[in-house]
Amino acid sequence: MKTTSFAACLLMASATATAQSTGDYLNSIRNNSAALTAFFSAMPKGGDLHHHYTGSVYAETYINRVVTNNYFINKATNVVRKDSAKGYVRFSTLGDSLGYYKQQLVQKWSVKDYNGVSYPSDLQFFETFGGFGVTSGDSLKAGLLELKNRAIKENVSYIETMFTSIPCNIDLGPVNKYQALLRTAQTNRDEATAQKLLGELYTWLQTRNIKGCASSYNKQVAQLHEDAKIDDAQFTMRYQNYVTRVVPPLVVFKSLAVAFESANSSPLMVGVNIVAPENNETSMADYWLHMQMYKFLHNEYPGVEYSMHAGELVLGMVQPEELTWHINDAVYVAGATRIGHGVDIPYEYKSHDLLRYMAKNKIAVEINLASNEFILKVKNDRHPISLYEQFHVPIVISTDDAGVLRTNLAEQYVLLAKRYPDISYKDIKRYVFNSIKYSFIEEEEVKEKLKADLEQRFTEFESGIDALQ
Ligand SMILES: [Zn+2]
Repeated sequence: MKTTSFAACLLMASATATAQSTGDYLNSIRNNSAALTAFFSAMPKGGDLHHHYTGSVYAETYINRVVTNNYFINKATNVVRKDSAKGYVRFSTLGDSLGYYKQQLVQKWSVKDYNGVSYPSDLQFFETFGGFGVTSGDSLKAGLLELKNRAIKENVSYIETMFTSIPCNIDLGPVNKYQALLRTAQTNRDEATAQKLLGELYTWLQTRNIKGCASSYNKQVAQLHEDAKIDDAQFTMRYQNYVTRVVPPLVVFKSLAVAFESANSSPLMVGVNIVAPENNETSMADYWLHMQMYKFLHNEYPGVEYSMHAGELVLGMVQPEELTWHINDAVYVAGATRIGHGVDIPYEYKSHDLLRYMAKNKIAVEINLASNEFILKVKNDRHPISLYEQFHVPIVISTDDAGVLRTNLAEQYVLLAKRYPDISYKDIKRYVFNSIKYSFIEEEEVKEKLKADLEQRFTEFESGIDALQ
């Protein structure tokens, strides 16, 4: 026993020395983007927890698909359709100009070559989804494999993707009056009434087919996951359901109820998220109601975890008072287990108390540096990452939409190391381990396996860096 513990001590001391020298090496290349890129491409990056499936597939994949399927394009607007319409021609008729239109589509369906001024960057970003939406729901297996293979090449071992919204046709006509009642409760900030109305709606929804919608969706995803052989020794994927927040409250609530039902009944579906621009008129007007919906559904499904896009806002984008409460409500009212973006934290009401609460309750923040820079124009010391670190809020580093943003996870770490020299290698390694620790993976053995694998990968990585010096 004595010998083993002595050997273990020696091993630990040598691992610490290697980590120390890896940290020294990182500090020596802080101002060299190319060297940082080589460093972080090789570094194991654990999981990507803020990841949208459709925005992560690269535009080239979607373009090849619409060309192969010979869809229709409007040559004046570059809008693509599956069906014929006035002003649209088939891709097969483009002849020699096909290459030109492919290039046009790359620019329309991502941020490639965008000059930063000719169009609002948030619109440039969000409108891509409407463009490639014509095909992003097709060939899901190929899309998942593209993401898996890219992740493996990039030393990413886990992705928790916001995959698709769950189709569920329920005629909401019989409960239409609730729309106005909910909005009145919202105007009055009347929480008791809002919760009572949501309870009545939920009882009604249960008499419809929410369980059926959730279970047939779960079966489809499980089949896809199995057929594509997504999980293996090198890589694991889990799925978050999402709902869009730019639709009327009744539709949001129905979709959320189905999303919670699905996440509650399959270990593959690990969470629920809410998406679409936070500064959209409807998102802003109904934000309070959406938080009430989460609060209600949390009581019905206490085992379901959820991250929330909250505080993806900046001064100038909305009226200043709107910057003071979104993260507050996501944390205190909705009970979010993780916060996506969290950029407006410095403007939030009693932000220091909120940061302390997040740290104490282990509510992680998902930091998306490239995305925040492009959409919000927030970077360097305007970005609140150092504030989160100062208050010990658990941090994870993620990509958001690597395909649309033409980025990858390694680049997020390059930006991190270059812009925030006070964030040490030890901190960075902690963020990487956080990406497994704060993932929503439900099976403990899967989490443990990923953690052990990550430790092994770091040992190899650090000895490789050691050899450089
Ligand atoms: Zn996002």
